[in-house]
Amino acid sequence: MAAPKTQSLTATRDDPGKLPVSALVGVGPALVEALARLGLHSVQDLWFHLPLRYEDRTHLTPLADLRPGMRAQVVGTVEAVEKGFRYRPQLKVAIGDGVMETLLLRFFHFNRAQAEQLRVGIRLLCYGEVRQGSGSLEMVHPQYRRLADDASVELDERLSPVYPTTEGLGQKRLGTVIAKALQQLPDDAQLELIPPPLCAKFGLTSLREALLYVHRPPPDARMDQLIQGRHPAQQRLAFEELLTQHMSLKRLRAAVRERRAPVLGDDGVLRQRWLEALPFQLTGAQQRVIKDVATDIAQPRPMLRLVQGDVGSGKTAVACAAALAAVEAGRQVALMAPTELLAEQHLRNFRHWLDPLGIHVEWLAGKQQGKARQQAMRRVLEGAPVVIGTHALMQEGVEFARLGLVIVDEQHRFGVQQRLALRDKGLEGELVPHQLVLTATPIPRTLAMSAYADLDISAIDELPPGRTPVQTVAISNARRSEVIDRIRAACTEGRQAYWVCTLIEESEQLRAQAAEAAHAELTHALADCRVGLIHGRMKPKEKQAIMDAFKAGELSVLVATTVIEVGVDVPNASLMVIENSERLGLAQLHQLRGRVGRGAIASNCVLLYQPPLGQLARERLQVMRETNDGFRIAEKDLQLRGPGEVLGTRQTGQLSFRMADLSRDAHLLPAVQQVGEQMLDRHPERAARLIDRWIGGAARYVGA
Ligand code: ADP
Ligand code: MG
Repeated sequence: MAAPKTQSLTATRDDPGKLPVSALVGVGPALVEALARLGLHSVQDLWFHLPLRYEDRTHLTPLADLRPGMRAQVVGTVEAVEKGFRYRPQLKVAIGDGVMETLLLRFFHFNRAQAEQLRVGIRLLCYGEVRQGSGSLEMVHPQYRRLADDASVELDERLSPVYPTTEGLGQKRLGTVIAKALQQLPDDAQLELIPPPLCAKFGLTSLREALLYVHRPPPDARMDQLIQGRHPAQQRLAFEELLTQHMSLKRLRAAVRERRAPVLGDDGVLRQRWLEALPFQLTGAQQRVIKDVATDIAQPRPMLRLVQGDVGSGKTAVACAAALAAVEAGRQVALMAPTELLAEQHLRNFRHWLDPLGIHVEWLAGKQQGKARQQAMRRVLEGAPVVIGTHALMQEGVEFARLGLVIVDEQHRFGVQQRLALRDKGLEGELVPHQLVLTATPIPRTLAMSAYADLDISAIDELPPGRTPVQTVAISNARRSEVIDRIRAACTEGRQAYWVCTLIEESEQLRAQAAEAAHAELTHALADCRVGLIHGRMKPKEKQAIMDAFKAGELSVLVATTVIEVGVDVPNASLMVIENSERLGLAQLHQLRGRVGRGAIASNCVLLYQPPLGQLARERLQVMRETNDGFRIAEKDLQLRGPGEVLGTRQTGQLSFRMADLSRDAHLLPAVQQVGEQMLDRHPERAARLIDRWIGGAARYVGA
């Protein structure tokens, strides 16, 4: 078998990266299958299967030097073993190294042989992550090996890479295959896809060396750099990955823009009638953005536009103007919001505006079941002019008759794929709908150009007149009762207040419990005020009833979880209290604060915090006190937390990279954009190969 393989290697010398993994010596069908499960089919896939992290087994850490959070290799003698079966089987092994320090090893899965092997007195070599247990530091499921009593420990010479892998394929085996693949790595002239003059201009070092380095760091490698991903070799690869992502979004955009879209040139009758009924004048910024959009959709090419505008800047009116143009041209509009609450708010706004114009607004949400849903879907298919809902709009079975415009609110919670899914609902022969994306997250420019490279951007950079800036203070939880007094005072003056409970816990149930506790506390303390409660575990109807009561002024105080983050509009509410504000990021704090200051009355925001404050939290609260400007807050947020958080992509996983980390590598973006533009322009074939190399079979964006 060896001979033909060697032959095939020679035969494809042109591009060894294109060889199937099976061409490597010793890679049989079982391994081929395991690799395929990781999306690794070709030799090149193996080259670019990069380590997730490194393990440092080059030295031993004394138990006394262990700190929670670190990964370490230790040696110790077993001092005690305890087998417990209280809630689930558990094996606890205490080890010591003679210096009066104990480390607890915890196993939840173990077999009998293991349990018998781990006896008092034996020596163990362990590697794992250190955690703070209740009594002592511990490692849960450490890797371990028994050492002979007098054996000295063999230390590694270099860092060991840890690869993303799959069940049935160990690190060792995977590492060996990758090493074999790396032997096929051609020289840079052949490997490099970024044209050499661009590499020179932007100081990009050898790709070949970068790959060899990250897969097998030399013994003298700067470990701190490698562990943080800041080594030049890693940065070289991060650059290439960001470049790939940028170019694939640009290509996606180009592909969409080649399609045809319905021309939505309105003569403005509907819009005129709507404007006449509107109780306010559009701001200059709103008018400008409405015009940007109108110009786009009057073209036979699909619009791809992102409208960003601070909380309360009036994005809904911009959306409505665009919707009216579509309706007037005889097309359907779909408006999708990320939460039911926000979608309902839109529904009310649009019905309020469009009912008098005789335009029916249809509702389609996830919770809607059975007959109501069937009927709604039928009306959508029959051409209901405006359809508002949540992600339910994208589900299978939902079909539109003549979809002309898709509006997505708060886009950062949806991924690119989701946007595409809704757009595809509009396939009608050749025509695809126009796309308008609204976001309240002000996105710093560099970031916008990278993460939203497929969209044009307009900004509503002006708030409607008559808003009084919100005064913000930070107050320690120790002075909670003073805050409650302030609420009482506000209520007595006929104004309303929000009390927001924040818990970082993922569980909606825990969040609801915290809100219930606060509700009880406030109800008790504010005997003369009516205090309402709203949280994510309530039924939509209940939520609606509470919101309506608050809007109507029947409730003075609304205790809420962060469900009110988006879309709630009660101009008479002038006080916002945010509990545990130190736990929230700037973007979220800004969004929440945006719920007050919507009317002419002076509004206040109280950031309650639990001392002691960490440095980061202190800085965040300081920024909130200093400014109300969403853009300044976003810039600061980017600086403090990094883009992954700013864009809210953590939740959606929209941008997941193998090497790059937007928060760490944002400084690469300007060069990425320049190289990307030149490559797409002058070297499209190389650009395509680069995208294929990094995104390959998983080409989510390409060809969409
Ligand atoms: P957001 O951009 O946060 O989605 P909204 O569209 O919900 O903001 O608008 C916030 C509030 O401001 C709403 O009550 C809306 O009716 C009002 N509004 C919008 N545009 C104007 C304007 N030009 N003048 C006065 N009020 C406006
Ligand atoms: Mg809005």
